[in-house]
Amino acid sequence: MSRRSTLRCMLGLASGPALARVAQAADPPTKLQEGGADIEVSFEPEHFDLPQAALLGWVRQAARAVSAYYGRFPVPRARVRIFAGGGRGISHGTSYGDDGAWCRISVGSRTTAADLDRDWMLTHEMVHFAFPSVARRHHWIEEGTATYVEPIARVHIGNLTAAEVWGDMLRDMHQGLPEAGDSGLDNTPTWGRTYWGGALFCLLADVGIRKNTANAKGLEDALRAINRAGGTIETDWPLERAFETGDKATDGKTLTELYRKMRAQPVMVDLPDLWKQLGVGRENGKIVFDGSAPLAGVRKAIM
Ligand SMILES: [Zn+2]
Repeated sequence: MSRRSTLRCMLGLASGPALARVAQAADPPTKLQEGGADIEVSFEPEHFDLPQAALLGWVRQAARAVSAYYGRFPVPRARVRIFAGGGRGISHGTSYGDDGAWCRISVGSRTTAADLDRDWMLTHEMVHFAFPSVARRHHWIEEGTATYVEPIARVHIGNLTAAEVWGDMLRDMHQGLPEAGDSGLDNTPTWGRTYWGGALFCLLADVGIRKNTANAKGLEDALRAINRAGGTIETDWPLERAFETGDKATDGKTLTELYRKMRAQPVMVDLPDLWKQLGVGRENGKIVFDGSAPLAGVRKAIM
């Protein structure tokens, strides 16, 4: 069976020459252990203002967040290749699964410790390790899980607060709503529908599973089950198999039914009403919670 090249994150689409550079990664890698996994990190320390330990600490922190969400690091072995860019900040993360699970990511040579601590991108890439590779038309679920899970995973280790994450969702989730001419998640490969449409699917699934199970289970249980069944970036799965596996672990058919509804037609979601049900809103620029909202318990359980 010929394996499709597994590539995540549209921002980081690597060209041929970029891949060639990856092949000749520099110094011998440093080995970290986190969440039960061996993680090999390679970079050239002399290109960064920060000490080597700071970059390794950043990789460890992202791995810790993902391990907290999934109960362990989602693959037993992974590689992280860090490339030095100009200036400050983290950019161009891309994950691959066709030569083991690995990702490449660029870090500006003048990046500070605070930049690393605020970074979301490496956690996002590592969430990609946890979900099987699916056909290109389902790319939205790969980016959607990464977009949705990344901040929640960081709440798990105290790197973000629940209020910050809800604030970002209130600000950004609308970008995942269908626009005129939309033909459903499988047929509308725009940036908004891929990243935020996928994240919206995840939020609706999380709320749906928690409503069905009286808050005993959530999307986290479904995604863990998919990962435990061997659904990692290194394997190609039909999307239906992933959803069936997740549904079985959460005592319902939430994922399969939501997918049937959203795959080929534009499904409008009343976001202001959803936020109201969950009891989260913004007042004078601050996120406020309403503990008496009908889904307040679901909101708390999600984070
Ligand atoms: Zn991504």
